[in-house]
Formats: sequence, C-alpha cells, structure tokens
Amino acid sequence: MKILVSGAGAAGLCAGIDLARAGHAVEIVERANHLRVNGSPIDVRGDALETARRMGILDAVLEHRITMTERTTFVDRTGAAVARLVTQEINDGPDDVELPREDLMTILRQALPDQVDLRFEESIAALADDGSQVAVTFASGREATYDVVVGADGVHSAVRRLVFGPEEQFTEHLGVYVAIGDASGQATPGERTTEVLNLPGRLAGVARYRDRALALFEFRAGPIRYDHHDRAAQKRILTEAFAGIEDWKVPALIKTAQDDPELYFDAIAQIHLPTWHRGRVVLIGDAAHCATPMAGRGTSLALLGAWTLTEELGLHGDDLGAAFSAYERRQRPYAQAAQDFARGGADLVVPGTWEAIEARNARLRAAQPL
Ligand SMILES: Cc1cc2nc3c(=O)[nH]c(=O)nc-3n(C[C@H](O)[C@H](O)[C@H](O)COP(=O)(O)OP(=O)(O)OC[C@H]3O[C@@H](n4cnc5c(N)ncnc54)[C@H](O)[C@@H]3O)c2cc1C
Repeated sequence: MKILVSGAGAAGLCAGIDLARAGHAVEIVERANHLRVNGSPIDVRGDALETARRMGILDAVLEHRITMTERTTFVDRTGAAVARLVTQEINDGPDDVELPREDLMTILRQALPDQVDLRFEESIAALADDGSQVAVTFASGREATYDVVVGADGVHSAVRRLVFGPEEQFTEHLGVYVAIGDASGQATPGERTTEVLNLPGRLAGVARYRDRALALFEFRAGPIRYDHHDRAAQKRILTEAFAGIEDWKVPALIKTAQDDPELYFDAIAQIHLPTWHRGRVVLIGDAAHCATPMAGRGTSLALLGAWTLTEELGLHGDDLGAAFSAYERRQRPYAQAAQDFARGGADLVVPGTWEAIEARNARLRAAQPL
C-alpha cells in the first residue's frame, strides 16, 4: 500500500521503519526543517523492549543506556539534598532502559529504510477520504493520493484536527506545564547528579547525563491560551511562572531556557479519543493517546503502536477497518495504563504546598534514606 505518515517523531519514524519493512511504500512528512531530537532522556519499558528487539534496534538502545533518573536528588532552596527519587515507584521493572531522546531518534533515523521518502518542512493542509483513497493537499501546495494516512504528529496533531475535530474536545489538562532546555553551562565534568528544587506548585532542576545538562521546569497552572508553535510566547509564560524566584539556581536556569532556540514547552495534557481511526486514516503515538511526560511511557507506546498497526495491516490485508480495530484493541490497554499512571505524577513531581513537599520528601527518605 502507499502510506503517508504525518510526523517524524518516535511514532512516525517507527511507523516508517515497520511499514516499509513490511513492503509498503511510505512517505513521511515532518513540519520542522530537521528531526526534533531534543528533550529529556526517555525510557523504553516493558513490552516495548521486545518490540525494539524485533525491530532490530535493541542492541543500539542498550548501548546508549544511561542512569540519569535514578540519580535524582531533591534539594532545598540552598541546594542541600533533602530526598532522593525512589525509581521503583516509576519503573515497570529492572529491565527498563533510559536513554537520551536524541540517541533514540538517531537510532530510529538510521534504521529507517532508504526507500522511505522523508520530507521536512512539509505538512498536511487538507485531506479527503473518498472510501477508496485519501487525497492530500500539502502546505507546500503539492497534491497526492494515498491508500492510508497515519497521523503520528504528536499531541497537537493536525491529522486528528482535520479528521476528528478540534483538539480541545479530546484534551484533558492535568494542570501542569513542562519546559526542558539546554543547560550546557550547568554541566560539570564528573558530576552526574540530577538536582531538583521544589517550591509550592513549582519545580526547577538540572538533569545531568554524560557531558550534558538540561534545565527542567514544571509548574502548576490551568489551561493557558497561546499558539503552540510560538516559542517566544512559551518562553514568556515560563519566565512569568518563575518571576521573582531567586532561590538556588533558578534565575540561571531560566536564563539558559530563554537562550535555547529549541526549548521544549507544553502543557501536561492527555489525549482521549473514543476511536483512533476513521476510514483510511489512523492515529498512533501521542496523536492518539498522549499520556504526558508524567507517564514516562510515551516513547514506549509509540514503538508498540507502530509495530502493532503494521502487524495488523499484514494480518487483515485490504480490510483496513478490521486492521485498525484490531490495532486499537491491542494498544488501548497500554495507553490506558500509562494515562492512569500519569495522574499521580503531579503530586510526586510538583506538590502544591510546602506541607505536601515535606510530606513527599519524608516519604521518600523513609523508603530510601539520604
Ligand atoms: C521536541 C520534542 C521534545 C520532547 N521532549 C520530551 C521530553 O523531554 N520528555 C517526554 O516525556 N516527552 C518529550 N516529548 C514527547 C515525546 O517525544 C512523545 O511523548 C513520544 O515520544 C511519542 O512520540 P510521538 O512521535 O507520538 O510524538 P512527538 O514526539 O511529539 O512527535 C511528533 C512529530 O510530529 C511533528 N509534527 C507536529 N505537527 C506536525 C504536522 N502538522 N505535520 C507534520 N509533522 C508534524 C513534530 O515536529 C514531531 O516531530 C518531546 C517531543 C518533542 C517533539
């Protein structure tokens, strides 16, 4: 089949790899002008490890393994350690693999078969599914038809908007925003601790792995209206959320975030849809079921979903409805579990009051003394 994938994140690249290897003619369009590899390290967990093995990328994933999260220390306003993260609370098991997001994206890009047509600075402007094919008009003005369109374009998916309707009706805001920026200035040779400061409803931290350092921020807030693609607006919102806070390294971290042209900023918001497919169009990854970074399972879900979709297309041939339904039946339990898990994340990561911060720290100290 001739398949168009919208988005070259983890889900889109995995779909490109799996579908092309299954013999489909695949084109991927990515809105950005390059692969967006930045962000904090991610995890490949549980059944996604087996999927990585079947995709032939497990060895590469293991080679790039890091142990950043298990070195997380919560500090007070002077930088003194007050608690350590208990990783058993967030992992599925001892085999979970954490690796830099940029490394996984590079591994996936290298695994992408040559025949996949990957186009940057391109996106779907309109699509029309007449039952026998999908006619697509791109933002560039190009027009083409496909047998299947896969929406892998993330939490703010354009395919989902065009086929299922406005984003707001599928979004559950968890009341927290996240920002992750480069913090090279905070990298110290030999220093591998990830430090996190909590203030009520606020988190600022430095994540360190290898020779890299990232500035981490989370803050509690209700839905904020802004253009998702407007980085200046994102930086302004972040800066306002931490305005007046002079504690620890916060001002320096905010400065480094302001200077990062690739700053990652988004609401921690889940996507819930009654179905992930309509006609010849199907959604995978965050576009279908974003569980949020609080779940720590978004990338594993992306690997699993792309693999399952490809398998079911292979099993059901031309019966796309049956293939998409079977994909959805298998993938939903994973997505649901990740979304449920994420709901407890805010209380662990950004407690809302000093009392809640101290209670969280006391609980962690009891489980793992300093
Ligand atoms: C830059 C970036 C940084 C991230 N950092 C983190 C992090 O630190 N921690 C974390 O837990 N999760 C992070 N995520 C989210 C995480 O990557 C996903 O939850 C997970 O990997 C599932 O991937 P996905 O491919 O479904 O979505 P995404 O990773 O969001 O990928 C979607 C891709 O589609 C592209 N796209 C968007 N709209 C269009 C369009 N209209 N047309 C074509 N392409 C489009 C995007 O540029 C992106 O490349 C980040 C995502 C991005 C894009």
